[in-house]
Amino acid sequence: MFEKILIANRGEIALRIQRACRELGIKTVVVHSEADADAKYVRLADESVCIGPAPSSHSYMNVPAIISAAEVTDAQAIHPGYGFLSENADFAERVEKSGFVFIGPRPETIRLMGDKISAKAAMKRAGVPCVPGSEGAPPEAPEEIVKLVQTIGYPVIIKAAGGGGGRGMRVVQTEAALLNAISMTRTEAQNAFGNPNVYIEKFLENPRHIEIQVLADEHRNAVSLGDRDCSTQRRHQKLIEEAPAPLLTERQRVKMSLRCIEACRKINYRGAGTFEFLYEKNEFYFIEMNTRLQVEHPVTEMITGIDIVQTQIRIAAGERLAFKQRDIVLKGHAVECRINAEDPYKFTPSPGRITSYHTPGGPGIRIDSHAYNNYLVPPHYDSMIGKLIAYGDTRQQAIARMRIALSETVVEGIRTNIPLHREMMLDAAFLRGGTSIHYLEQKLANSKAQ
Ligand code: ADP
Repeated sequence: MFEKILIANRGEIALRIQRACRELGIKTVVVHSEADADAKYVRLADESVCIGPAPSSHSYMNVPAIISAAEVTDAQAIHPGYGFLSENADFAERVEKSGFVFIGPRPETIRLMGDKISAKAAMKRAGVPCVPGSEGAPPEAPEEIVKLVQTIGYPVIIKAAGGGGGRGMRVVQTEAALLNAISMTRTEAQNAFGNPNVYIEKFLENPRHIEIQVLADEHRNAVSLGDRDCSTQRRHQKLIEEAPAPLLTERQRVKMSLRCIEACRKINYRGAGTFEFLYEKNEFYFIEMNTRLQVEHPVTEMITGIDIVQTQIRIAAGERLAFKQRDIVLKGHAVECRINAEDPYKFTPSPGRITSYHTPGGPGIRIDSHAYNNYLVPPHYDSMIGKLIAYGDTRQQAIARMRIALSETVVEGIRTNIPLHREMMLDAAFLRGGTSIHYLEQKLANSKAQ
């Protein structure tokens, strides 16, 4: 096992990884920007290294600074967390070439899955069902594109091969708008991701977002930790997640898990990963694979009892998975609310000093957050300041506990989306379960209209 790990991230996930390391008896090095110098998790780490000024392009994305921080502190492995460099194949390669272990998949796997066109092709070969659309990049000739989309049927969605974080997508309702939308998405994709390639998919009108968590080791063992439902989204950003996904049959659950395990073997996957699907009319359609830890991993930890971050570290150290598929039992239900420093209805960021902070407790409640009383939420990064997770024997109990936890939570001095979460935990459609990815936006639009 490693003696020292460098954590190349910030915020709640830096703290989460630090806790996992502590439990495994591993020392931690946290790298941070000037804006995060005072963060509590930075002080809790065994060592810390400032890697640059506040803007992430100069700090958390600064590859040479991170590698030299690992060198000067004698860290053996680097955990990238999520976001930032976590799905950057060049970074993973640089880490390994510099003699460190990258806690994640092999660089070539990250590259394969990072390009959504090659990812989809690989999944199709592995027998995973995909959203119908252009096989790879659409044809060059405009009349060929038009013909192709007629066979797919409107509406369609144009997606950037290099896209991520809900960006680089455009829905097209009519043929008249098609060609212009493709060229606009290409230009945007080139500017945002340095890759102009786009592809076309059937736009599913009312799908749910359901994903499957997998773990695979170096020794060709792969397991599924079951599914999560992340349909409560706004602008393609998840807000509430739960595990297991409501209303699926046992048959569907097992079938999708088996497909994903099989796909892991076919692509020789290593580490933790997530297969994301849209689910509509009882069918699953693969949209992408995330080759990293996900924000919503705690809900799966709660229902499986498996520590995903510790397992990532063990896999990176070359260990075999300590459990087989038959050992994994999904028990109970867990819900996660992402707590963001933002206006609950206008969604404008609300950084600043937290003047009063009180976290909830009680049976089944877990909080993953780096925030504290008097913490200054910096304006430079993602607005998420923590995650509140509630576990119960049933979905109903998990939601009831979440409702109580939200009522106990106090965050003053900044605005947060807690009022929206309180409302959602009383929402009749959410309580029934199985709402689509558009539900939250429709609800917000309706309440605005009233
Ligand atoms: P990203 O990498 O940016 O997260 P995804 O491919 O995972 O992009 O898509 C993000 C979200 O966009 C999905 O959760 C869903 O809400 C929406 N979306 C993507 N593809 C489709 C599609 N074919 N039809 C309808 N919605 C889609």
